[in-house]
Amino acid sequence: MGGAGSDAGGPGTGGPAAVPAEAGRAKAEGAARADADRAGPEHTDADRADAEHAAAERREVAEFRRSLGLDHLVDVHTHFMPQRVLAKVWAYFDAAGPLVGRPWPITYRWEERRRVELLRGFGVRAFTSMLYPHKAGMARWLNDWAADFAARTPDCLHTATFFAEPGALADVRRALAQGTRVFKCHVQVGGFDPNDPDLEPVWRLLAEEGVPVVTHCGSGPVPGAHTGPAPIAALLARHPALRLVVAHLGMPEYEDFLGLAERHPGVMLDTTMAFTPFAEADAPFPRAALPRLAALQDKVLLGTDFPNIPHPYAAGLEALRTADLGTDWLRAVCHDNAARLFSL
Ligand SMILES: [Zn+2]
Repeated sequence: MGGAGSDAGGPGTGGPAAVPAEAGRAKAEGAARADADRAGPEHTDADRADAEHAAAERREVAEFRRSLGLDHLVDVHTHFMPQRVLAKVWAYFDAAGPLVGRPWPITYRWEERRRVELLRGFGVRAFTSMLYPHKAGMARWLNDWAADFAARTPDCLHTATFFAEPGALADVRRALAQGTRVFKCHVQVGGFDPNDPDLEPVWRLLAEEGVPVVTHCGSGPVPGAHTGPAPIAALLARHPALRLVVAHLGMPEYEDFLGLAERHPGVMLDTTMAFTPFAEADAPFPRAALPRLAALQDKVLLGTDFPNIPHPYAAGLEALRTADLGTDWLRAVCHDNAARLFSL
C-alpha cells in the first residue's frame, strides 16, 4: 500500500518550476543524469529540467551545511504517509481548506521514492514519517503502514500516531512493540483535547518510556477547538516528564510555548515553517523573544514539513538564518540536538 506505483503525481507533475541549466560540477551533473534515469525510460524535457533543478537544490543545501560545518542534517518533521492519504492532504492544501486558510502550493508533489532520494541527496541522515488521523479508527492502519515504511527506509525514524479514542492505548502499545521511536500528535487536525480521558494512559506510558511526541498544538495556521498553550500546560502539569516536541515553534503562540519549554525539562520545539516569509506574513516570530529562543539552543530541533511546503527545502533552511542566532545555534538545531535525542 502506498508504494511508488500508485502515485497521483508522477515526476514532472507540480514539481519546482524549471530553472535554466547551470554549468554545475561534474558530480552534480552526474546526479542530475541519475535523476533523469530514475524518471523512467521516456526522458522528456520536463524530466531533465526537474533533474537539473534537483541538482541545483542539492548544491544549495550542501552550501548551507558547509557554512555550518555539518556533514548531515536531521529533520524531525517530514511527512510520509500512504499515498492515497497524502493525495487527500495535497487536495486539501490545493483547495486551501479551512485548516489551511490560504493558498498553499506544494513544492514536492512527487512519488515517494523520489522524495526519499531527494532528502538523502540533501544530506538528511534521519527524518520522520509524520502521519496523523483526523478521525477514530485510522491510527492503527496508519501505524502499520508507517512500520512498513520504516522497515524499507532505514534512515526513517520510525514514526507512529494516535487519536483520542478508546483503543488509543492499545494502538500506542502496538506501535511501540513495532519499534516506534517518535510519535506525531496532531491536535489541530485531530480536533481532540489532549486531556481527553482516553489519552491519559497513553501520556503516562509515553512519559515512562521517554518517547518523543511531536505535537501540533499551536493555533497556526488556523486555530482548532483544543489548540493553544492552555491544554498543553494542563497536560504537562499531570505528566511533567513528557518529551513533547512542540511543532512550528508553537506558532502563533510562540512566547507561551517558549515558556513551557523553559519550565519543563522534556519540552522541546521544532522549527517547522518558522521564519519563512510564508509564516512571517501571518504569524511573525516576536523579535523581542529571540534571546529566549537563543537560550533554548539545546531544545530546538530542525523540522521542515517536507514535502508539503510552499517553497524549496533550502529556502526553509535559509529562513532559520534570518533569526540571526549564530552558527553554534544552527548546528545544534539542524543536527546535534536531534542526533542526541535519538542516539544517532
Ligand atoms: Zn507538518
